[in-house]
Amino acid sequence: MTLAITHSIALLGIEGSVVDVEADLADGLPAFYLLGLPDAALGESRDRVRAAILNSGESWPSRRITVALSPASLPKRGSSYDVAVAVAILAADAKMPAKDLGSMMMMGELALDGRMKEVRGVLPAVLAAARAGIRRIIVPIANVAEARLVPDVEVVGFRSLGELISWFRGVEPPDQLPVQEELIPAVVPTLDLSDVVGQHEAKRAAEIAAVGEHHLFMVGTPGSGKTMIAERMPSIMPILDRECAIEVSAIHSIAGLLSEHAPLLLTPPFVAPHHTASRSAIVGGGSAHPRPGAVSLAHRGVLFMDEAPEFTRGILDALRQPLESGFVSVARTAGTARYPARFLLILAANPCPCGRFAGDGRSCTCTSLMVRRYLSRLSGPLLDRVDLQVYVEPVSRMDLMGNLAGEASSAVRDRVMAARARSYRRLEKGGWRTNSQISANALRSEFAADSSGMSLVHRALDDHRLTARGLHKVLRLAWSVADLEGHQRPTIDDVAQAYALRTGAQRLVGAA
Ligand SMILES: [Zn+2]
Repeated sequence: MTLAITHSIALLGIEGSVVDVEADLADGLPAFYLLGLPDAALGESRDRVRAAILNSGESWPSRRITVALSPASLPKRGSSYDVAVAVAILAADAKMPAKDLGSMMMMGELALDGRMKEVRGVLPAVLAAARAGIRRIIVPIANVAEARLVPDVEVVGFRSLGELISWFRGVEPPDQLPVQEELIPAVVPTLDLSDVVGQHEAKRAAEIAAVGEHHLFMVGTPGSGKTMIAERMPSIMPILDRECAIEVSAIHSIAGLLSEHAPLLLTPPFVAPHHTASRSAIVGGGSAHPRPGAVSLAHRGVLFMDEAPEFTRGILDALRQPLESGFVSVARTAGTARYPARFLLILAANPCPCGRFAGDGRSCTCTSLMVRRYLSRLSGPLLDRVDLQVYVEPVSRMDLMGNLAGEASSAVRDRVMAARARSYRRLEKGGWRTNSQISANALRSEFAADSSGMSLVHRALDDHRLTARGLHKVLRLAWSVADLEGHQRPTIDDVAQAYALRTGAQRLVGAA
């Protein structure tokens, strides 16, 4: 045999395409040509493959070797093809049986000594392979648990190229890492809402946010508990279903963030980028190997932006695409990668630059112009998408002295899930998943509040206390309140509560 072919996968975003890895040995001056990889990766990959084969005790064919990765136009990261390239060469050289190679997908980077090193993106790659009908998957042993999340494929893991070659020659594969999926607790509650003293209104806002997936803006002095509440948000959100969990895990796989033993992420992720983070860290990107940004790592979970007015205008504007469409496009030379980015946004801000503008504002050293300018950085299109705007009071001495343990996250989550269950059938008709998605049209007809509730918001509209847009937001929130209360339709009390939660930060931020 002088020709052998196997497969690997190229990823663009979380979408994978099958790559043919074909090796041909011909007579002529010994040489090694590797085609179809980006220039930067070519030389390194050639050196690694050659060293790994020699250091696995195999001989290097003294022929003219050509390995082609096709289609050439697909974007490829060099290192994950090492294993497929080495296997194709050895099979073409008749050092191992080539039978079945064409029905396999392999991924893995080779160390110079022949070790198979784990690579990123195995989960989305195996999903793509399975869709293409490939049923046998070969990966580094550290990636086995991740690859096995995909149903109906056989996954075999190896520690080294030497082990892999022996397996092709009929030796049993090494012990595989145990797959612990069944053992993962449904939710690992590291942080619990019961840790938060007082702050009933903010906690209520968080609960409503979790029901309807409403974005939340909290204004309050430093130390008032905004961060604590935001961090505990995933603990009151519904656990991810399997389809979402796979999707979220695939994104984290590309970022190299999955655990070797428990790769399936079942808890909604929580991502809190610092305000000094770069644009590509937030929305994704990077020159050679674009990575998903914070907005995609927060997919199906929470994106928390503390001290939100400190983020640059460019970054705040860049949030608009994912907030509107649920994905981000990351441009790169080989094409545009699309990463999912549907997250619950939590913004937090101090009331003023110095942070002490609270109560009578006595200790604040900022001028009124500074205060207005500070929060106005957030106004406009971004804040327009945030349904809940609450003012978080400093914790009172009574709350601290009372030392009453707050309600546990599990109890809140039970209510959230019951409310979601109530909303599910009603929303399904409109093609919506949560109350925050109800269209403005529907809110004026089928999805209106009861008559007293509607007259409350109409009065606020007439008095210019609400804009038309604000009115719709209040009604969406009112549905989440009604679902929590078990009401068939929002009542005047539900609407009044929604109105208060929509406008709580209003006196600091401007019109609702
Ligand atoms: Zn101040």
